[in-house]
Amino acid sequence: HMMFDQLSSAISEVAKNFGPKRRISEKSIQSALRQVRRALLDADVNVDVADTLVEGVRARSLGSEILDGVTADQQFIKAMYDELLDLMGGDSTLSPLASQQAKSVPAATLAVGTPENPAVILLAGLQGAGKTTAGAKLALYLKEREVNYDMVDKDLDSAKMLASRLPTRNRNVLLVAADVYRPAAIQQLEILGKSIGIEVFSKGTEADPVDIVTEAIAKAKAEGFDTVIVDTAGRQVIDVDLMNELKNIKKVSNPSETLLIVDAMTGQEAASLTAAFNDAVGLTGAILTKMDGDSRGGAAVSVRGVSGKPIKFIGIGEKVADLEPFYPDRMASRILG
Ligand code: GDP
Repeated sequence: HMMFDQLSSAISEVAKNFGPKRRISEKSIQSALRQVRRALLDADVNVDVADTLVEGVRARSLGSEILDGVTADQQFIKAMYDELLDLMGGDSTLSPLASQQAKSVPAATLAVGTPENPAVILLAGLQGAGKTTAGAKLALYLKEREVNYDMVDKDLDSAKMLASRLPTRNRNVLLVAADVYRPAAIQQLEILGKSIGIEVFSKGTEADPVDIVTEAIAKAKAEGFDTVIVDTAGRQVIDVDLMNELKNIKKVSNPSETLLIVDAMTGQEAASLTAAFNDAVGLTGAILTKMDGDSRGGAAVSVRGVSGKPIKFIGIGEKVADLEPFYPDRMASRILG
């Protein structure tokens, strides 16, 4: 896997230096953590996030009891794993070991709507981040029937618990083209919608986005859609007028989710952008796109630490099926190589 190659090789190099010793000393961790910090910064992780991570690893490595048969390098990797998991919003009580993929739990759920009261999901973002594509991807994801292979052969309690936290699928989705400033965006959404069998509501470029969304929700209620995904106007930069428009759309639509679509290739910039949008309009989370092209990992590691908001989904390609829920434990495992 190309993802995070630099970061993971740097960390495994550091871990190797501890070797099969039985104890991590104050002195040996000092230089290891310097190297990890440098690797994190090279991967474009936000500096405050890197410092938090390094301090956490130090505390865990020095403080923890050494278990029988656990070597210093394993202990160091475990400390890195736990810190990454905490940082990205994972539940370490559910994922005691990196290898226990079967217990993977996504970072977040999406509220489930009903035809009487459809769940509204607003998508915001800078132009080119992949917002329109993400709208179609999310619609397809939510439309698909759930096949949760993770739950097969697992005990009933954890299966039930997982089911309660997974974004429920098999939904009846209406996509709404409210980006009236870019005519191509409406057309793009209509073409994508057609290709995945999802109805797209649009009123062209002359209508007011607030009216479009109001009408779309009325249509959803009248016709039995339980989920409404709104593609709002893309921005070139953070722009007061468009932020106000987003706030007005929020007011009339009472969304259960306001998700920022951010490009993973922009590294820690993706994290500051999430914080800025959250301050301006209030977000429930982010969709991190273009993870397939990001070999560093700075965005994935930084978004939650900087903005306080979880990554809910990741885009992993240009195709409409290339979306998956964000699993902090899987991501932590990948980062550790
Ligand atoms: P918008 O301006 O934010 O609506 O962006 P678009 O949805 O039009 O996407 C911009 C470009 O990014 C398009 O060429 C998409 O195919 C591409 N894109 C979107 N998501 C991904 C992704 O997860 N991976 C890759 N490789 N490309 C993506």
